[in-house]
Amino acid sequence: MIHIIGGGLAGSEAAWQAASLGVPVVIHEMRPVRATAVHKTGRLAELVCSNSFRGDKLDNAVGLLKEEMRRLGSIVMRAADAHRVPAGAALAVDRGRFAQAVTDAVSGHPLITVSREEVTRLPHDPAMFPLIVATGPLTSEPLSADIAAFVGAGHLYFYDAISPIVLAETIDMAKVFRASRWDRSLLDAGDGDYLNCPLTAEEYDRFYDALVTAESATVHDFDKERFFEGCLPIEVMAHRGRDTLRFGPMKPIGLVDPRTGRMAYAVVQLRQDNLAGDHYSLVGFQTQLKWGEQARVLRMIPGLEQAEFVRFGMVHRNTYINAPRVLRETWQTKARSDLFFAGQISGVEGYVESAASGLIAGRNAAALVRGDAPRVPPRTTAIGALAYYVSHADPRDYQPTNITFGIMASPGQGPAPQRAAGAPTPPAAWGGGVRAGDPARRARDRKLAMAERALRALDDWIAQAEVAPASLRAT
Ligand SMILES: Cc1cc2nc3c(=O)[nH]c(=O)nc-3n(C[C@H](O)[C@H](O)[C@H](O)COP(=O)(O)OP(=O)(O)OC[C@H]3O[C@@H](n4cnc5c(N)ncnc54)[C@H](O)[C@@H]3O)c2cc1C
Repeated sequence: MIHIIGGGLAGSEAAWQAASLGVPVVIHEMRPVRATAVHKTGRLAELVCSNSFRGDKLDNAVGLLKEEMRRLGSIVMRAADAHRVPAGAALAVDRGRFAQAVTDAVSGHPLITVSREEVTRLPHDPAMFPLIVATGPLTSEPLSADIAAFVGAGHLYFYDAISPIVLAETIDMAKVFRASRWDRSLLDAGDGDYLNCPLTAEEYDRFYDALVTAESATVHDFDKERFFEGCLPIEVMAHRGRDTLRFGPMKPIGLVDPRTGRMAYAVVQLRQDNLAGDHYSLVGFQTQLKWGEQARVLRMIPGLEQAEFVRFGMVHRNTYINAPRVLRETWQTKARSDLFFAGQISGVEGYVESAASGLIAGRNAAALVRGDAPRVPPRTTAIGALAYYVSHADPRDYQPTNITFGIMASPGQGPAPQRAAGAPTPPAAWGGGVRAGDPARRARDRKLAMAERALRALDDWIAQAEVAPASLRAT
């Protein structure tokens, strides 16, 4: 018997996979007994925001991930395909019918029991293991506190702070200078990793006045909660004092403008977005200002007067563990092999990725019950690459990740590259957000080749699983 806390996208998929392997499951889901700040119904796998599962073509990494999930018998994909609505190259669903279909399938499965209750502590009873924690970004507070005690308080995060991103071609390069703080750019003028927007005292004052009077967005109640010092919105910092930003994200120290040989009064740094080389994010500029206000105020920064924003900043509740510190590639915890994390709380980002992690966690929890070894598809597959990335990324400043071709190994290459610490995560890919333009033909062909290779590798992996002797124990 497996227990799963949370009947969202990850928990429902995990339950379905385990039950499909003949292992009984209990899902402990707190809704509708206890609500979250964003869910509206008591249905399993409710989509909390957009109704889009993003791209559905094989030259798109999330399209590949979905195809892999279909081949692995995903209930989330089966329900999504059955209830799709027109959305061009994306897969969008009728949210009500989708969640109802998952609810009917999961709760109607003879091996799955759904228990409507909040779990407030990680269980101690050995009968509750294998256990999968899939309580999502809005994990209830008492359980969050207990998880923090288990993983270590420093390895559980509660908020996601996202800085705005601008299109590189809309930055006025004549006004900015390239340099890294305190490095050789001081000697080799103009050779650094960041684009820096210098402000004079007058420009800073005008920017500051606009910032403290701009209108904030009030999205959900949880956004009113106390912020952690590490991800304070810039407007909150600004309200602490006129110079707070000059000693924080706008500090000029160590940044010499090669054109003047001097440090500016204040500086806004732009860092290239690793995942899209033509995008730059504003470093440390997480903000809750209304989007129109963000555009107005941030365009007061020299060099950004004509900036086009491909993503606006936000701060939202997002409970997730520092996965590379806590998890193995199999979604088991390093500390306890019969305890798994899956879904957004496990350090992935997005509906599809959450369900994908649940898919593997459910199979592996079932493997433990059956006396088999936990397995993960090869790293050349999207689902395997996600598992590898989450458990092996740089743990410093870890942020939940979407699937991208960038974290998969290219043909002829070794394991997937790691994203640098602090590189922005791309939740803009949530439906309706940022859209990459049409990729060049060669890039598209390369992605299609990676997708073909991934699907071949996955088919082989599935075939091996089927012929492998299942040392079935009584369940
Ligand atoms: C505000 C917001 C908007 C988002 N919008 C998008 C989007 O548009 N597109 C996208 O791809 N991703 C989005 N995400 C990210 C993520 O994909 C979703 O949150 C997704 O639902 C995560 O799936 P999950 O299974 O991990 O968690 P969930 O789907 O949230 O499932 C977790 C379940 O656990 C239950 N639970 C929580 N605590 C307990 C407890 N103590 N005991 C029992 N049950 C409990 C909850 O009721 C819930 O049903 C968004 C996240 C947030 C916070």
